[in-house]
Amino acid sequence: MAKTAVHLADMAQRSTSFPWPDAPEEDQYSVCVHCGFCLEVCPTYQQLGDENHSPRGRVHLIKEASQGLLPLDESVINPVFTCLDCRACETVCPSGVQVGALIEEARGQVHYQEPPSGLSGAVEKLFLRGIFPRPARLKKIRRLMRFYQMSGLRTAVHKMGLLKVLPMHLRELEAVIPDITEQSALDALPELMPAQGARKASAGLFTGCVMDVFFSDVNMATVRVANRNGLDVLVPKEQICCGALQVHAGDREQARKMARHNIDVFERTGTDYIIINAAGCGAALKEYPELFKDDPVYHEKAEQFSSRVRDISELLVEVGYERPQGEVNCTLTYHDACHLCHAQKIRSQPRELLKSIPGVNLVEMVDADRCCGSAGIYNLTHPDMAGQLLERKMDDIPEGVEAVVMGNPGCMMQIKAGVERRKVDLDVLHTVELLDLAYRREGNHDERR
Ligand code: SF4
Ligand code: SF4
Repeated sequence: MAKTAVHLADMAQRSTSFPWPDAPEEDQYSVCVHCGFCLEVCPTYQQLGDENHSPRGRVHLIKEASQGLLPLDESVINPVFTCLDCRACETVCPSGVQVGALIEEARGQVHYQEPPSGLSGAVEKLFLRGIFPRPARLKKIRRLMRFYQMSGLRTAVHKMGLLKVLPMHLRELEAVIPDITEQSALDALPELMPAQGARKASAGLFTGCVMDVFFSDVNMATVRVANRNGLDVLVPKEQICCGALQVHAGDREQARKMARHNIDVFERTGTDYIIINAAGCGAALKEYPELFKDDPVYHEKAEQFSSRVRDISELLVEVGYERPQGEVNCTLTYHDACHLCHAQKIRSQPRELLKSIPGVNLVEMVDADRCCGSAGIYNLTHPDMAGQLLERKMDDIPEGVEAVVMGNPGCMMQIKAGVERRKVDLDVLHTVELLDLAYRREGNHDERR
């Protein structure tokens, strides 16, 4: 076990027995009054019925470990990593316990104590450190995936049944990978896309990595919709992945490196806003200051950066948007991505935009804000729990709807997998795709992109 040595005098100053940076602090966990309001909204507690897998239980375990009353062993690590980090508990907590931040910091302590080894260590080294922070490698992976799809290799692999060696959840995800476009939006778009009509503000587009690999069309639609509503859009080419997956995995050092890079890149653009259409990335960007609690220079820069970040639905409502005139005749339901509704408190804006589209009939689903099981890479690390939550989500989709709409690429992949599993005729769309379609159906839209 690789433990970092610390000076005893430093330890005496701290309210934690953890010797590593970013430890959970007493004022974070001591505000829990054990009321239990959070239990009934916690998906893992609902499924497992175990107090240790509830928000209250997890906060208690983190407190005990922080105070040195419990070792940081499996009894703490398992509940901390079984948490979806969905933040539903924060929405109902009367004391304002920031469970997500506590979970992420506790995972950081686990990571410092014993960096992952074996298969999970290899996965972290390859993906979280080797590929996501490096755009050139991400681009190569994207090209390989396109080759796999376009060359006939995928068809051959399916025909020969070679995917049967993969676990079911990976086969389901492979089946729903969208057609990869020739270029990502980051590569295809010019650096400046000027506003149409009266200019209201400027915005830097954060393209995201998963969004731009699998759903670059959503980024294209985001730019068109933003331009249409008076926003100059800049696309800084040096941007990299936001680091959300690294934060969720507890690799805060790597996340900090990525955050510093993005802060510097977007500082240079000088745009009024930074727009994002992926809920998980948006929440991470808004929470960059938490990564720099002990770095006064970057903490201030991160505060300035985060104050400019807006989800695209949030910004359109904030600066004002034109009601589209084109019709999209569709009965649909809306799924609240956890990191949009619970982490960013954005619920009404996407619904307002959808309802503004002529022909759209929005039917609310039960528990629209309960996690679908995607949760970053949770559906890869905890496929059983993720699969159970996906089943519940699919059960909740109202009869007769033609589409499920949301604002996060991970949820889109997960719910597409649910659609595939159930063999139902249901489109899975991003909010901005429908808005873009409605504008384009007006017939006078600039079709240059
Ligand atoms: S709702 Fe908040 S205060 Fe109540 S038990 Fe849960 S975390 Fe603690
Ligand atoms: S973040 Fe989600 S899974 Fe984790 S404790 Fe809170 S409600 Fe439960």
